[in-house]
Amino acid sequence: MVESFYYFLFWICILGLCFGSFFNVVILRSLSGESIVFPPSKCPKCGNKLLFWHNIPVLSYILLRGKCYFCKEKISIQYPVVEITTMLLFAAVFVKFGFSVTTLFAIFWISCLIIMTGTDLKEQTVDCNIAIIMGISGIIFNVVSAGWIGFAHSLTGIIIGGLILELIARSGYLFTETRAMGEADTFVAGALGAIFGRDIIVVLFLGLLASMAFILPVFFYNQYKNNNKLTCILGVLFGLSFVFLQALLQNYYMLAIFMILGISLAISILKGLKHSENRNYLPYVPALAAGALIFLFFVI
Ligand SMILES: [Zn+2]
Repeated sequence: MVESFYYFLFWICILGLCFGSFFNVVILRSLSGESIVFPPSKCPKCGNKLLFWHNIPVLSYILLRGKCYFCKEKISIQYPVVEITTMLLFAAVFVKFGFSVTTLFAIFWISCLIIMTGTDLKEQTVDCNIAIIMGISGIIFNVVSAGWIGFAHSLTGIIIGGLILELIARSGYLFTETRAMGEADTFVAGALGAIFGRDIIVVLFLGLLASMAFILPVFFYNQYKNNNKLTCILGVLFGLSFVFLQALLQNYYMLAIFMILGISLAISILKGLKHSENRNYLPYVPALAAGALIFLFFVI
């Protein structure tokens, strides 16, 4: 039994590498509108068709030392990163859920999330159809495992997830003339709601924490460079106060100071956003995907 487990794990890793390789193509070609299946892969710089051994996941990147065989143009690190990430996530799903229906569905959801994360990071666009398909598969999964209760569970999740993200997106109108986030984020949150039901609240919270880990350092670095010392000091104090959170919660005076600090920091950040030139959408799908993965692997 143990041997067959490792045997399957090995093949799931291989499958993950191949799927990752395919996702790279989907991420690139869904943006350029080219067919996914038809034209053979070629170098985007010199246009030479790739030979069969240039298409092996990860291995080709190492053999070619990250450069095109013909023109020596650098190959994007995106290729091996997506391939290895897909492999690791597929393997993690199998280790966690074993031979089960959940494994099949989780592999499908992870595939959708990888593609949407890729296009969101690369071009700030996400194909809402992928989110819709992911949501439908979430409903099917819940109905298969729990019938009508599962269906209600899914429906609640879609409403909560979609509504929360739509509200956050529209809060953008309070400070600028645009949405704070793209429409795709609402679709993705709704789809994750179809999968996780009411627990979508936890998923969104985890996603928020994950995004903070990336956004805040960059944000404060920019504030520091722009000589916006007040925001930086407030940020550091607010961050430090989290260390003493438990003590704070037991002392109302301290808690009041903590909240005033938080509110002044928020105002300071919003002021900064209002004056900054680039009001691009935050690519938020990666954060949602991170929340979903943390929940899938560490909370369930
Ligand atoms: Zn080339």
